[in-house]
Amino acid sequence: MKSYNLDRGEFVVLQRSDVSLVSEEGRNPLDEVVLTNKSLVLVVTVPDGAFRTARYLKRLPLEQALDDLGVPRTAVTKVDNSYVLNVAFSDETVSLCFAGGSAGAARRWEQAISSAAVGDLDGIGADDETGDMLGDLLEETKGTFGALFGGTGQPRKKAELPKRPMTVTKRCVGCHAPIVGRKGTVVTCSYCDTKQTL
Ligand SMILES: [Zn+2]
Repeated sequence: MKSYNLDRGEFVVLQRSDVSLVSEEGRNPLDEVVLTNKSLVLVVTVPDGAFRTARYLKRLPLEQALDDLGVPRTAVTKVDNSYVLNVAFSDETVSLCFAGGSAGAARRWEQAISSAAVGDLDGIGADDETGDMLGDLLEETKGTFGALFGGTGQPRKKAELPKRPMTVTKRCVGCHAPIVGRKGTVVTCSYCDTKQTL
């Protein structure tokens, strides 16, 4: 069994091996990234002489990822075509790219690190590849939502204008429930009765 040099009372919450460390010099694949209830551990194996390798563990205490108000300093940003999770520790910011840039995995790990940092381990779900795909789909939806309502989404290519009325799916401006209807028509949300133009 691999050792992560865990402290007494420390245990592994999530672990992945398809993660790269993103820096100004580029992306360096890590052997593993391990989230425990106390720290984020980066594992890398490097050549040490001709026939040996050395395994290094870098431990980043989660308590150092909290700001003065106890809020985790994490953010998922889009770099080129992949999503990168940034976690600001007191001494350095660590940027990680999951599964070749999956938005879903980056978001799940952001959630997990935030939850672990504030001691809420129940809020951490399983990490699996099916979730990556689902997460990426949700990410696309979110981006559209941001573009429609002037949110903080990334700049997007201008959509081609439809030539005839088309059915669109939007989020209610009042309660965010999905609303389906013809583009340009005024509808009333069936959940919260907010009138709005699709
Ligand atoms: Zn509504």
